[in-house]
Amino acid sequence: MVAPRLEIDLDKIYYNAHELVARLAEHRISVTGITKAALGSVEIAKTFVQAGVSGLGDSRIENIEHMRFADNNALTSEVPMTLIRSPMLSQVEQVVKFADTSCNTEIEVIKKLSYEAQKQNRNHQILLMVELGDLREGIMPDDLIDTVREVISLPYISLIGIGTNLACRCGVSPDAANMAILSELAERIEEMFNLRLDVVSGGNSANLLWVLSGGNKTGRINNLRLGEAILLGCETLQRHPIDGLFSDAFTLVTEVIESKIKPSQPTGDIAQAAFGDAYPVTDRGPVRQSILAIGMQDIDPCGMQAPRGISVLGASSDHLVIESTENKLLLGEEIIFQLNYSALVRAMTSPFVSKVYTSRRESSLTFNVEKNGLRS
Ligand SMILES: *Cc1c(COP(=O)(O)O)cnc(C)c1O
Repeated sequence: MVAPRLEIDLDKIYYNAHELVARLAEHRISVTGITKAALGSVEIAKTFVQAGVSGLGDSRIENIEHMRFADNNALTSEVPMTLIRSPMLSQVEQVVKFADTSCNTEIEVIKKLSYEAQKQNRNHQILLMVELGDLREGIMPDDLIDTVREVISLPYISLIGIGTNLACRCGVSPDAANMAILSELAERIEEMFNLRLDVVSGGNSANLLWVLSGGNKTGRINNLRLGEAILLGCETLQRHPIDGLFSDAFTLVTEVIESKIKPSQPTGDIAQAAFGDAYPVTDRGPVRQSILAIGMQDIDPCGMQAPRGISVLGASSDHLVIESTENKLLLGEEIIFQLNYSALVRAMTSPFVSKVYTSRRESSLTFNVEKNGLRS
């Protein structure tokens, strides 16, 4: 079969999504399924929707456009789509056209969205993101009220809620204090402007421990935006597996193109390698070294979990060098890896990695291979 390939078990993704939707429903929290790590994959988006997410979100408007029009527009009618990264001024036209909602922090952008929405005679919904300490996107809490005042005065724009994003840049954990601030801000806005905020979006997969560890009052928070937790079955503060979820929905299959006994120590003067400083090596005598036909363009070599007896020694653009301690590997032999988030994002994004989806849920086994190549 074609290699390298990413084998994607949609049933496991369905199970994970369904489980998280159910567990969070007990706290009256809805799930927006985030597809960005999957390059807006329609199969995965559909699986999220079947599992009960309340909407889909992606950081790239191109992915949202792709999901909108795929599958005979079946997703379009079914599910609201949110752009979770602040829109570029240069893309407001596409944002209004393809996304129902966008997360925003800049009034200049929202004004342009309003202007564009008017032009397209279409309403656009806004979720205002609040900075609560992680120092990525967000309006400073002291500036929020003024921003709300301006947003609600704009035509063709509806303010549907507020949200925050923690842990992504500085690793700041969601906790009782920062989550309470978000709830209080929501209530303050509602009182001050006599309106109802439908969405208070508490964060991403890093918020799961805080919500599910029990005993925590979730206040006004009624939505989480989840990607990694569904796809890889882990929470993202310590990257511990979540009880009862699958952490092996994705498997990367690679192929051996060279297999030799080589010295472990390079010969000659050592300068820079293809991607900067070369890995330091210790002389371990001759080793069973193999090359897999995949490289830095397709994968993060630090995020690959090799099978027993195999370790990753290094990588350049198109070659992954491994050592096997047990057997000499055969040419054409397939070596499989589990991936972390960083490796998954790159593998999903690489046009050189085929995506093979399997599912037994719908009566017969679907076996859908998306061949190598950029999608059109
Ligand atoms: C990526 C992202 C998410 C989802 O993060 P996961 O860790 O994959 O759950 C949610 N919200 C925003 C704003 C993001 O950028």
